[in-house]
Amino acid sequence: MPALDDVLEQRIHDLHDKCQRRYLHGTEYTDSVRVVRDGKSLLCFSGNDYFALSDHPEVKQAGQEALARYGAGARASRLVTGNHGLYASLEQRLAQMKHTQAALVFGSGYLANQGVISVLMGKGDLILADKWVHACMLDGAVLSGAKLLRFAHNDISDAKRILGQHRGSYRYCLIMTETVFSMDGDVAPMQDLAELAETYDAWLLSDDAHGLGIVEHTMQYPHTIQVGTLSKAVGGYGGYVCGSHILKEYLLNSARSFIFSTGLPPAVVASADKALEIMAQDKERCARPLQLAHMFTGLLGLPPAQSAIVPVIIGESEAALKVSAALQEAGFLVSAIRPPTVLQGSARLRVTFSAAHTEEMVLRLAEAVKLVI
Ligand SMILES: *Cc1c(COP(=O)(O)O)cnc(C)c1O
Repeated sequence: MPALDDVLEQRIHDLHDKCQRRYLHGTEYTDSVRVVRDGKSLLCFSGNDYFALSDHPEVKQAGQEALARYGAGARASRLVTGNHGLYASLEQRLAQMKHTQAALVFGSGYLANQGVISVLMGKGDLILADKWVHACMLDGAVLSGAKLLRFAHNDISDAKRILGQHRGSYRYCLIMTETVFSMDGDVAPMQDLAELAETYDAWLLSDDAHGLGIVEHTMQYPHTIQVGTLSKAVGGYGGYVCGSHILKEYLLNSARSFIFSTGLPPAVVASADKALEIMAQDKERCARPLQLAHMFTGLLGLPPAQSAIVPVIIGESEAALKVSAALQEAGFLVSAIRPPTVLQGSARLRVTFSAAHTEEMVLRLAEAVKLVI
């Protein structure tokens, strides 16, 4: 047998040849939109802290107080001794925001999706997922043992075709989508998906990781499970599932990523609670990222932004990396996103906007992008 490290080196080599090798870069935020990388200060358009809450004085203070009072860690899973009293307020706030009976906080968005999907569905069931859903939703589907089929991105007629053909052969059915797609920033037709789910006797799961506070969905379908993260718009860390009381009860009794993983540090829970309080009050802050994204797409003649995420499609991985490097040279951090995260031939800049960006910053970025693409 060849040596372990030799096998791995060959694999890394192959990734490198495909322009798919990834690197960790030391990156430090000095405020909500500026980072230092390789000793150079850059204006950042790649973060997911859409409302600049990570750096909000009240959010930090809430975390600091909880850290000082309760210590650094949760010390056990939530079912043992890790269920700090602060969770009650956080979960109530989440349920209120999502108009659901209850919410359950997980260690991360990844763990939440994986946990809920893998225990909701099982052998003999059907999961129908949008082609572009996040990796953790697919992991959950695979873990569940259910049959997984994919429909063309945001294409209701394709989803309908697949359901018509296959729904009858399975017991339960779950349709999965993201409310706002993480790499394209476009919005799912939630109302149409809900109607489809109703017609074909299916449940609906939506991941609102990039939609929370940015895009409001008024869709009402009783068999809906709403998943999301506290690590993006909320500026902290953690994940959640919102739905009925009985859903919460079932998940805390069955979801393995909930049961067998330590609770969040109390400071993280306290910060998220404060951040959600600010989001509920400060509507101007919440409207800002989309306004700036609109300004940017207007300046570049791109299709109008639907969320805080704007893709600038470049094509080949190598070209996208070059454009990103040129922007870095000009003082901007805009990450290149490559396959396998996105489809072959659709490597891109993924530009994200924050409430802490100014119009002048957006103008400067647009000028810089025009020069390098
Ligand atoms: C980031 C993301 C997740 C994972 O959330 P974390 O809290 O970072 O683990 C899940 N789903 C989508 C759509 C995401 O963009």
